[in-house]
Amino acid sequence: RVEIRDLRKEFGSLVAVDDVSLTVKSGELLCLLGPSGCGKSTTLRMLSGLETPTSGTIELGEEDVTNQPPYQRDSSMVFQSWALFPYKTVLENVAFGLKMKGADKQERREKARETLELMQIEEFADSVPTDLSGGQQQRVALARSLALNPKLLLLDEPLSNLDKRLKEQMQIELKNIHDRFDKTMVHVTHDQNEAFTLADRIGIMNEGRLVQVGPPREVYNNPANRFVEEFLGETN
Ligand code: ATP
Ligand code: MG
Repeated sequence: RVEIRDLRKEFGSLVAVDDVSLTVKSGELLCLLGPSGCGKSTTLRMLSGLETPTSGTIELGEEDVTNQPPYQRDSSMVFQSWALFPYKTVLENVAFGLKMKGADKQERREKARETLELMQIEEFADSVPTDLSGGQQQRVALARSLALNPKLLLLDEPLSNLDKRLKEQMQIELKNIHDRFDKTMVHVTHDQNEAFTLADRIGIMNEGRLVQVGPPREVYNNPANRFVEEFLGETN
């Protein structure tokens, strides 16, 4: 369970995230959906510890993590750009995060191999990321996060650099990961099809505020206000 209370982030006079309160249930896949600049990434970065809130609190499990640095939190983030190390092999990329968590070398290699197998990319263990396709690189990025077995998996538009076919394939894969590991996931996207495909619940943001939260069907059938209605009415 993740408990977010009155979370706020100001950059100078700009309010990027405006007093957002939200509970993400244990094992839930919640999609944060909204137009560009509405504060999705900033919210996610505060959850991961990459950004310090101006005010408000974040609890992960029973623990207040608001002021904990990223490596102390039981969470891991997958980025849009994948952020892989170009000169490390796929195996080293996946093993890297485990080092930060204090695992020994043997342990790191075993866990990394196991996760590569899980993501069906073990054949690329000794390749460098640039020798892989976009979809394969995204699998590596996911494997790197999954290897840490975080309580909370955070994903910031992880599929937006993929073509339509790969995107749909990875959406199924993400859903499988979620079902199989019962992971609590917060997935940020501006693509409503993606949100409606993946989410147990959708949180819709506009101008820093969380304007509606609910299961996809409920959000679709009963938009909370004009903004939600018009946003969902747009086709991407
Ligand atoms: P997108 O869909 O384009 O990724 P987003 O919903 O993720 O958008 P954020 O990246 O959270 O939006 O940005 C919210 C607002 O905060 C924007 O107006 C953005 O310009 C601003 N912002 C984000 N990070 C910073 C920063 N480090 N310094 C100043 N302003 C920032
Ligand atoms: Mg963003």
